[in-house]
Amino acid sequence: MTDLQIAKGVTLKHISNIAEKFGIDPENIEMFGKYKAKLPLTAINREKAQESNLILVSAISPTPAGEGKTTMSIGLSEGLNRLGKKTTVVLREPSLGPVFGIKGGATGGGFSQVLPMEDINLHFTGDFAAIEKAHNLLAAIIDNNIQSKTNSVQLDPRTIGWKRVMDMNDRSLRHIIVGLGGTTSGIPRETGFDITAASEIMAILCLAESLSDLKKRLGNIFVGYTYDKNPIYAKDLKAEGAMAALLKDAIKPNLVQTIEGNPAIIHGGPFANIAQGTNSVIATLMGMSHSDYTVTEAGFGFDLGAEKFFDIKCQSAGLKPKAVVLTTTIRALKYHGGADLKSLTEPDVEALSKGLPNLEKHLENIGKFKMVPVIAINRFVSDTDEEIDVIQKFAASKGIRVAVANVWAKGGAGAEELAKAVIEIVESKASSFKPLYDWETSVKDKIATIATEIYGAEYVDYTTKAKADLRKIADLGLEHLPVCIAKTQKSLSDNPKLLGRPKDFIITVREIEIAVGAGFLIPITGNIMRMPGLPAHPASEGIDINDDGEITGLF
Ligand code: ADP
Ligand code: MG
Repeated sequence: MTDLQIAKGVTLKHISNIAEKFGIDPENIEMFGKYKAKLPLTAINREKAQESNLILVSAISPTPAGEGKTTMSIGLSEGLNRLGKKTTVVLREPSLGPVFGIKGGATGGGFSQVLPMEDINLHFTGDFAAIEKAHNLLAAIIDNNIQSKTNSVQLDPRTIGWKRVMDMNDRSLRHIIVGLGGTTSGIPRETGFDITAASEIMAILCLAESLSDLKKRLGNIFVGYTYDKNPIYAKDLKAEGAMAALLKDAIKPNLVQTIEGNPAIIHGGPFANIAQGTNSVIATLMGMSHSDYTVTEAGFGFDLGAEKFFDIKCQSAGLKPKAVVLTTTIRALKYHGGADLKSLTEPDVEALSKGLPNLEKHLENIGKFKMVPVIAINRFVSDTDEEIDVIQKFAASKGIRVAVANVWAKGGAGAEELAKAVIEIVESKASSFKPLYDWETSVKDKIATIATEIYGAEYVDYTTKAKADLRKIADLGLEHLPVCIAKTQKSLSDNPKLLGRPKDFIITVREIEIAVGAGFLIPITGNIMRMPGLPAHPASEGIDINDDGEITGLF
């Protein structure tokens, strides 16, 4: 059965019933049809949120297909609910780029899904569209200001970093010239499009804690320099009020349900390489305000998503997570052990064993945050008992909890062992979360700490451009911001070809971007794509709809 067929077989509960179960009066929700609703910000209760147990689901370095963090998060929350712990899963919203590209949707899989998956994976409640509009409003204001004779802030068009965005994998828009067509059609300049998930506004919306905080962050977006080299921010263009107005609904988290009828909150979707890669702070606080356990996910492997989750999001919002679930797959470990991508479903204990150092490094990294992990083996039908045994023995040798989680095939029933391990970690107060670095240390120190401690690099090298960016950051007085390192997810290093646990490598910072609005700096290593392209045979080729409005081919 496909994910969509499984999803279609579920009789959905009305969203007002889910709201009641979650603990919010259905009178206070804004319904989008029968199965989706926006939750009011007034339903966030900071005191109650402090008491909720926040669980982070992360993963080892992934293969291109993803190792199942979303699926695991949903399955774990069903499992915890089965054990009598009131649990809410809080996740990101899918982007249309992957939905129509290679990876597909982001609503879990098999018997661990959030529903209605067709809606969540397509336009959902319009949050991405609103973010796109707010982003493009600023772009229009910028080009209009350059054109204006009476309202000019004297922006030097060559210094503008703000592009336009669209929620589509469309590589042809990466580099474009705007303003062609003569004096009435703008000033020609080179610019381009990023995908909406890469917009700084997406990152801002996901760190903002209120509408006024959102507006302040929007106003702080760095636009470029004047001809006299003075910085210009969005507030200098009086843009933040209108941008925030466009986001009035997008800031509210979305309530949906899991296959087993438990509440799920889906909100925001920033990239995990150039941004923090996790759902909004508001959604996390909303989940925590109404649940004993709140399960959430951070994008890509632990080195990327989880480090940012802990050092940026948790520090920014004052969150103290209680346990880490490290999603591990036999296929990814074989891949790290040298097996070919095409042969990952064939039993191969040797490759699997050779891949274990990748798992080992992620476990060590979790310890650097004073967090206690449980390894969740995401069971695939191709896994053999012998292979599972290898991971269990490895975990035992390190004294680390491990659970086989068959959430894809069995939903919450496949997560009980994992849920018990999570409860044990939480109830024994085993974790005492501590961020890796202090925001107040120098930018170079922050980068070096992450590169050496988490990635395992020897040292960090800076290009001439990156050194100039460091001076620019100092001139602008932004050295206190945390760093959100953009790096490949395929390797612990900045070279996607170095699998397993690479050693003796250096990290090269090519440039450092400034996201003052979001509140972080982005040191860029390697080639990071902000506007992906579609593959030769995109997933869109298999998607269809019939006369009854039934969709097929989404996964
Ligand atoms: P991540 O969040 O880590 O990127 P997802 O949970 O989105 O990963 O899973 C990636 C893909 O793999 C999805 O299409 C999902 O349905 C599928 N998947 C996850 N776990 C399993 C499993 N145990 N067996 C088969 N397919 C799975
Ligand atoms: Mg995911």
